[in-house]
Amino acid sequence: MVPQIKRVLLVEDDEDDYILTSDYLHQVAGHSFDIEWVDNSVEALALLKKNQHDICLLDYQLGSLNGLTVLEQAGKSGCSVPIIMLTGQSDSQLDSDALDAGAVDYLVKSELNSARFNRAIRYAIARRDIENERLERIKAETRNRSKDKFLAHLSHELRTPLTSILGYTELLLADHENKQIRGELTTILDNGKHLLGLLNNVLDLSKIAAGKLEINHAALALDRFVADLYTLMSVAAQDKGIALRLSSRTPLPLEITTDALRLRQILINIIHNAIKFTDQGAVDIEIWLESADRQEMLCFAIADTGIGIPGHLLNSIFTPFEQVEDIVSRNEEGAGLGLSICSELLKHMGGRIRVTSELGKGSRFVVAVPVGDISAVPRERLTFTRSAHGKPCENVPKLSGKVLIVDDIKDIRHLFGFICHSFGLEVSYAVNGEQAIEKILGAQARQQPLDLVLMDIHMPVLDGKRTMLKLREMQVVTPVLAITAATMKGVQQELQQLGFNGVVPKPVDKTLLYQHLADYLPLATGDSAVEREPGASGQAQFLLVEDDEDAARLTALLLENLGVKVELAHSVRQAEAWLKTSRQFDQILLDHHLPDGNALELADSIRRISPASQITVISGREMSRSQLAAHGIKRALLKPINLALLKTLID
Ligand code: ADP
Repeated sequence: MVPQIKRVLLVEDDEDDYILTSDYLHQVAGHSFDIEWVDNSVEALALLKKNQHDICLLDYQLGSLNGLTVLEQAGKSGCSVPIIMLTGQSDSQLDSDALDAGAVDYLVKSELNSARFNRAIRYAIARRDIENERLERIKAETRNRSKDKFLAHLSHELRTPLTSILGYTELLLADHENKQIRGELTTILDNGKHLLGLLNNVLDLSKIAAGKLEINHAALALDRFVADLYTLMSVAAQDKGIALRLSSRTPLPLEITTDALRLRQILINIIHNAIKFTDQGAVDIEIWLESADRQEMLCFAIADTGIGIPGHLLNSIFTPFEQVEDIVSRNEEGAGLGLSICSELLKHMGGRIRVTSELGKGSRFVVAVPVGDISAVPRERLTFTRSAHGKPCENVPKLSGKVLIVDDIKDIRHLFGFICHSFGLEVSYAVNGEQAIEKILGAQARQQPLDLVLMDIHMPVLDGKRTMLKLREMQVVTPVLAITAATMKGVQQELQQLGFNGVVPKPVDKTLLYQHLADYLPLATGDSAVEREPGASGQAQFLLVEDDEDAARLTALLLENLGVKVELAHSVRQAEAWLKTSRQFDQILLDHHLPDGNALELADSIRRISPASQITVISGREMSRSQLAAHGIKRALLKPINLALLKTLID
């Protein structure tokens, strides 16, 4: 190995001694030295302060300042270079003073050709190396700590506003029947979710890069896990009109040890891709057990009949930010992070991922994960099929009632909520049995009891069975349906004996769920199912004059949502044409700048043609009251227009 060159600072005011010392230094075996020579204490201190040298040999006799003072001052100025003091003659007092002042060693100049000199130099270098390593470690730790802090901070900063965006959009969606607004809200929601997914991916990748990824192994009920996964994914498959089939090639253990969250993340990503890149046909999931290196591995094969991946790109899809481009219909969005995260996660979990694919025919991803010791665990075959077509529940009569959905997995909770909502039901949620009991009792105390509870069985804190026992002990008679994968024989019977009124099998089937619910809940009595008719008597009539098509459409939509009937005009001329019809408008909203005139001029003609109408100007800047009043304009709204602003016109 080539010896690393060490930088030596030699502080010596006698040139002969300098030459002699450097000669001896060059004779030290195993090291090469780059020697910098200074002959005075001022320069020496300036250089020592910079900590650029690996060792320093410091002469004791240095003109005005002696070596001890230089040592002390160097220490005070933050110098960490190991300093060896060179003295003219042996003096034990001086030697111990030098060590006290911070020297790592002392040498008498007559010893320069001795083994002791060699040892002292080597020792000082080793010391410097250790110190350098320590400093590097501290620097790296600091860098990592600030990266972690930055990530945590960034994550919070991005997630907080995103939570409000998603939350409020969902709220609005729950409230709005208007199809067009629902479409637009869904676009916001989808994009928000996409952004959240990307954020999670980027954070995951950074965690992996920083070596901070934690894998948490725990016992997992496999039948339930698979049923939930299937339920979630079959909704997406159904939306695309492709079949999703799941079957097991071998009997599967009912319990395994793994990181359930991560395994779910990996499988959802791959199944989601399979559905995304398949327009016709089916996605088949096959699960089996395999022994490899005396270890049991659970394998999932996800095969699709989609567009496929060209052979030369099969490896790069596991590299961050790689997307297979240049293929006709491959215009799906995505950042190309998902598969690289899956592959990294699997490496950390002791598993693996493989892919085979044929362009135009489809792809097959195989994921394998270790499952721990399953020798004593009972095994069963699993099979689920969901046909490609048929949304059988679309036109069923609406039900009425308040339903509580209890499940610890958010996606599943919301999926059930979504389905129940589509049946016309009022939905509330609980994440475990304890919270469910609180909500059930709370509703009873408020004299607004719940009509039915849908309850998952495997949950943390208080599971479904113990919750049921407690409820019946407390004489709560609300019907409770268990939601369970229930693959083991006798489970249904056991659940019914515990007090459950029925069992809804997972993966959830909408029709079956409806039938179960209809056994306990009455049909809706008209009102909630009837939509408000536009143009009904008593409805306010507005004329909106706005030349920007998008702004006009949005404002009209918001107004319609407030129950207002809106007519549109895009210019002064069109507005005047409307006013000359026999229609009377309660209010007229005018954009300030119109292609063939401005709002103030138009306001004057409106007052002549339709004096009873109230006029409001919509403007991008504040307008003076006197100016408005001079044209008979009641008020001005400042852009951007939102629902709350428009509401002020109606209240
Ligand atoms: P993204 O988030 O962009 O979907 P992924 O890492 O999940 O990223 O996938 C990377 C790329 O691999 C995708 O953009 C797509 O081009 C390709 N790909 C992944 N799965 C499939 C599949 N089942 N069929 C065809 N192409 C796929």
